Amino acid sequence: MTTSPTNRNILISGASVAGPALAYWLHRYGFTPTIVERAPALRDGGHAVDFRGEAHLTVLRRMGILDAVEAARTRMGATWYVNSAGKRLAGMPADLFAGDVEILRGDLARILYDATAQHTEYIFGDSITAMREDGDGVHVTFEHAPPRRFDLVIGADGIHSKVRSLAFGPESRYFKHLGLHCAIFTTPNHLGLQYTALAYSTPGKLVSIYSARHNTEAKAVLWFASPSTDYHRHDIARQKEILADTFRGNGWESDPLLVAMWDSPDFYFDAIGQVHMDTWTTGRTALLGDAAYSPSPLSGMGSGLALVGAYILAGELATTHGDHRTAFPAYEQQMRGYAQKCMKMGEGVSKFMVPQSRAMAWFLRQNYKLMPYLPGKSLMAKGARKTAESISLKPYTL
Ligand SMILES: Cc1cc2nc3c(=O)[nH]c(=O)nc-3n(C[C@H](O)[C@H](O)[C@H](O)COP(=O)(O)OP(=O)(O)OC[C@H]3O[C@@H](n4cnc5c(N)ncnc54)[C@H](O)[C@@H]3O)c2cc1C
Repeated sequence: MTTSPTNRNILISGASVAGPALAYWLHRYGFTPTIVERAPALRDGGHAVDFRGEAHLTVLRRMGILDAVEAARTRMGATWYVNSAGKRLAGMPADLFAGDVEILRGDLARILYDATAQHTEYIFGDSITAMREDGDGVHVTFEHAPPRRFDLVIGADGIHSKVRSLAFGPESRYFKHLGLHCAIFTTPNHLGLQYTALAYSTPGKLVSIYSARHNTEAKAVLWFASPSTDYHRHDIARQKEILADTFRGNGWESDPLLVAMWDSPDFYFDAIGQVHMDTWTTGRTALLGDAAYSPSPLSGMGSGLALVGAYILAGELATTHGDHRTAFPAYEQQMRGYAQKCMKMGEGVSKFMVPQSRAMAWFLRQNYKLMPYLPGKSLMAKGARKTAESISLKPYTL
């Protein structure tokens, strides 16, 4: 960027994928990003996330982190459906669904943090409590830090975004529950899995375990069908109790996993849903990633979408020398169709992933057995790649 931008001081809420990716680009364009993250330290944990197609890989390459992401790829092989005795019933090779690069969310967050920590002020263990906008900035108050002024505020704080609730109103207006909850935690690889996932399905529940970090540990992922539950989002003990009540006596590895869960170094639990909004920006505030357009984990698109969104939002701010009145509509205009297509990938998936009846579970298992041999077997992976590539990225060479 040749001239110094206006609106230089930008506060970003959330240090997972979208926030640090945005900070990376903002710094490159001459802005000064600050990130506030509610967790006391960078959050590890979470499932594997996929990048697929040229758009995702191009952003990673332009950020200079593609090699690091590839070095940390999971190299995951087949997923096997098992019965209650652990007998393998049907196997699905990884290439049926996988993207070009799969990486654990926690590893990705670490790479993004390392790429930004030197030139980004990170404030951990804090949260915005109020924002008051006036003619030339936003007065922000925090739970702990003293109040500060910023030129712009970006909410990259996930599906339960605080910035969204402050600037756009309550979550209930935007969050669409998809009928499932999901818990993910790290556990010892006690089954000795080698780049493999096992999955055990009972009506309305799915338990899966896969080896991670080159088989040195495993991830347990427990899905269950449930309406929007009234649990406290920050009450992890309560969330673990809900999980224990739901899966106790469910068979296969359910009970041992429920025991291991209490000692796990990380624990992620959330309702599975999407965020639908007519607009993602207002005044000097914009939303990014899951906060604005979460396609849900069922889509396999959340991290790629967040990364592309960060690239475009920062690029438009740079092009307009920080004029948010022009940059924000341009960001919305470029992202809208793409985000909608990515969201479609997450719709209707839950009933296949977690079938509610025995008959449906049986029917799907027969299909899984046949799937590797069907001529259209890679249609899903191809469809996902086509969607992920359905955006052309401006070069933003400033
Ligand atoms: C610990 C964790 C595990 C995850 N596991 C999975 C998974 O297994 N599968 C999957 O598909 N997706 C998972 N996700 C979501 C996935 O990371 C996102 O869908 C995607 O990467 C888009 O990222 P995002 O940065 O927009 O949102 P997120 O990754 O959700 O990040 C939001 C960040 O904002 C922080 N935050 C929340 N509230 C506040 C606040 N008030 N103030 C400051 N910071 C706040 C959160 O702690 C988090 O670090 C997980 C997210 C987290 C945080």
